[in-house]
Amino acid sequence: MKSTRTLNFINMDDSDIEHEYSGHCPKCGHSPLHSRDCTNWCDDGYMDEYDDDPINFSPGQEFSKCPECYGTGIERWCPSCGENLSDVKIEWDEYA
Ligand SMILES: [Zn+2]
Ligand SMILES: [Zn+2]
Repeated sequence: MKSTRTLNFINMDDSDIEHEYSGHCPKCGHSPLHSRDCTNWCDDGYMDEYDDDPINFSPGQEFSKCPECYGTGIERWCPSCGENLSDVKIEWDEYA
């Protein structure tokens, strides 16, 4: 018996769930904005320097702010213009 795969969820997997926020993009005014748990392998917004430089750092010694989510652990961006809004203060009001 031949198995077939459906591609309905080609853009979705369990670790990549996006949410919509009612905030407006400060750059282009687009709404809603999108967010998801940071996929940059950070730990609640911070990266262990040891992962980048195991010679000069030991695990847990030094942390740097994640360049994707800016220390928030949540990536936020404008789906229209692509602006990274993780560190931008916006009234985030999740509705989806
Ligand atoms: Zn991050
Ligand atoms: Zn925008």
